[in-house]
Formats: sequence, C-alpha cells, structure tokens
Amino acid sequence: MNPVTYLRAGSFQDAAGLASGDAAARLLGGGTNLIDLMRKGIEQPTRLVDVSMVSTIIEPSAAGGLMIGASARNSAVAAHPIVRERYPMLARAVLAGASAQIRNMATVGGNLMQRTRCLYFQDAAGSRCNKRVPGSGCDAIGGFNRYHAVLGASPDCIATHPSDMCVALVALDAVVHVAGQGGARVIPLVDFHRLPGDRPDQETMLSPGEVIVAVELPAPTLARSSYRKVRDRASYAFALVSVAAGLTMQDGRIDDVRIAFGGIGTKPWRALRAEAFLRGNPATPDAFAAAAAAELAEATPLPGNAFKIELAARTLAAVLGQLAGDDR
Ligand SMILES: Cc1cc2nc3c(=O)[nH]c(=O)nc-3n(C[C@H](O)[C@H](O)[C@H](O)COP(=O)(O)OP(=O)(O)OC[C@H]3O[C@@H](n4cnc5c(N)ncnc54)[C@H](O)[C@@H]3O)c2cc1C
Ligand code: SF4
Repeated sequence: MNPVTYLRAGSFQDAAGLASGDAAARLLGGGTNLIDLMRKGIEQPTRLVDVSMVSTIIEPSAAGGLMIGASARNSAVAAHPIVRERYPMLARAVLAGASAQIRNMATVGGNLMQRTRCLYFQDAAGSRCNKRVPGSGCDAIGGFNRYHAVLGASPDCIATHPSDMCVALVALDAVVHVAGQGGARVIPLVDFHRLPGDRPDQETMLSPGEVIVAVELPAPTLARSSYRKVRDRASYAFALVSVAAGLTMQDGRIDDVRIAFGGIGTKPWRALRAEAFLRGNPATPDAFAAAAAAELAEATPLPGNAFKIELAARTLAAVLGQLAGDDR
C-alpha cells in the first residue's frame, strides 16, 4: 500500500472539508470494503478521513420516521427495536448480509457506497473493466457472468450493486441526507445510484467532496414486510436474487405494495411496474407472476445469468404469497 495520511473527522461538515479538493481522498467508515480494495491496489488513497464515529444515531425523525446516522453500524441498525418492530424488512435485509463480525464494523454510509463484487473489477492485475479503468473494456460480457445484472445493464457494464441493506431501503422510500462545501441536500435513495450507461465508473449522485450524513426512513405504511435472499451458500455470500417486499391488504385485494430486487440490477432495483400491476388486484399466484413479468420484460439476460429471470419471479411470488397469508 502507498503511504496514507489518516485524519479523524469531528463532524460530516468537517469530513467534507477534509476530503474536498483532493481527488485521492477517501472517507473511511468501517473499512470492510475500502481496506480490501486498497490491499488489491484498486483504491489508492493518499488521505483517509475517518467518519466511523461521527454520527451513530438511530432515532425517530421529526416526520414520524427514523433517522439513521451514516456512521451507525449495520449490526446496530438490525438490532434496533424501532427497526425490528416497524421496518422488519430492513432488519432482515441487514442480517442477510456478510457475517456478524463484518456487520459490527460496517457502517450505513459505507454500505451505500460499497463497490461491486464483479470478479473482473476485483482483478486489477489481469482483467479489463470499464468501472475500474474507464474505456478499457468489460471482461464480464462474454465471460463468467453468473452473478451479473439482467436489469439496468449497458454495453459497458453489467455489474450488480451488492448491497442487501439498500434493497430494503429503496423499497421503504428512504432518502439520503448529504453535505458538502456547497451545503446540504436530500436525494431519494431510488435516484442515488446511477445506471452504468457509458460511464460505469460514476456510480452515485454524490458530487466531488460530498459525504453521506444520514439515511431517513418515512413513517412506515405497510402492514407486513419481509426480505428474502437466494444465494449459492446458506450464509456469507452475495445475492443471486433478493426481494424486499411489503404489502397491505384490504377486503382480499392488495391496497398498497412496495417491491425491490437485489442481485439482478445494476443498482438496488425498485420494481415500480410490478407494484403498479398489483395495486387493487387480488393476491394470487397468477397476479404475482404477471407482476414479475411486467418488471422483467426488459431484462437482458446473458448465457450465465438468464436463470435469474425465473428465479426472481419465483422468489417474488414466494415472498408476496407469504405476506398475503390468510388475508388472501
Ligand atoms: C466477506 C464479505 C462479505 C460481505 N457480504 C455482504 C453481503 O452479503 N451483503 C452486503 O450488503 N454486503 C456485504 N458485504 C459488504 C459490506 O456490507 C460492506 O463492505 C460494508 O457495508 C461497507 O461499509 P464500511 O463502513 O465498512 O465501508 P468502508 O469500507 O469504510 O467504505 C466503503 C466506501 O464507502 C465510502 N464511504 C464510507 N462512509 C461514507 C460516507 N459517510 N459518505 C460517503 N462515502 C462514504 C468510502 O470512502 C468507501 O468508498 C460483505 C463484505 C465482506 C468483506
Ligand atoms: S461488469 Fe462492470 S465491473 Fe464488471 S468487468 Fe464489466 S465493467 Fe467492470
């Protein structure tokens, strides 16, 4: 590793100041992703600004929702009584990610900003990757692409966003509070991650020097919610497909529904088409299948990942069927 200057921020405004004007500065949350990438030579910061202690709050927001500081640890989010009682899909999603040790270190801000697990992105020495080196090519297209995206992909990048937490947050209509030298602003999480297009290296809507301060959840509106993750091993593996879903039934019909997918999109994938199809319909297996078909109609499968289309449809049907339960 290169020599690095370590600085500890006292506030997120501080952090934005310490990181601004230096393209090679990086914020340090739990370090569970960044330090790995530094060891592999993929990240080579000259300055590390530690934000791991800045704001660890998890508390009710003024609007009746929940405010989660960007330095809150994943394990603290999953264990918090308000999260467990009012946002169960979020608790389940966080617990589906990584291991207990990693969740104890990982922060909410770092989870939103974690880099893709694409094998070719991780292989700095031997593979071409447009996300790592813009314009160099993409070895995943035409390569081993079992773990790659079928939604939101471009001819330049097909990498999935790896986060479980973000899938639940996007289904819950979370917003991201950010701060920079130019002031503070709020970005809906559904817009926070960019589609790859022809610039897969530009992954989020953060401007240079901006930092994540907090994630805010609106007041919960769904009667039931859950998260299910399908993966190659029972634990300690990233999603092939995951589904965060919540619904409210009224007189045997779906009154309100929120759905997001992980493992199949180049960003945490809010399934607005599936939701629109289901609202007002009875909760039947046929309706679930049609909703999945509506969402996946524009999927662009490759030989290695085509199985994800049916897997996503089946996982969605299983989660919605479970949530609808006796109210069907
Ligand atoms: C073996 C292993 C298995 C894993 N399995 C899963 C899994 O199944 N599901 C899953 O979701 N995740 C998984 N993870 C990923 C893990 O959740 C992330 O590494 C973690 O969430 C990143 O958080 P961190 O605080 O450690 O981030 P760091 O490593 O500290 O930082 C990650 C990035 O975020 C930036 N950053 C940090 N804080 C801020 C901020 N406040 N504002 C702006 N940028 C910021 C950093 O500069 C860096 O670019 C796994 C990780 C490992 C190592
Ligand atoms: S899929 Fe994206 S991250 Fe993976 S090699 Fe191609 S450009 Fe790089």
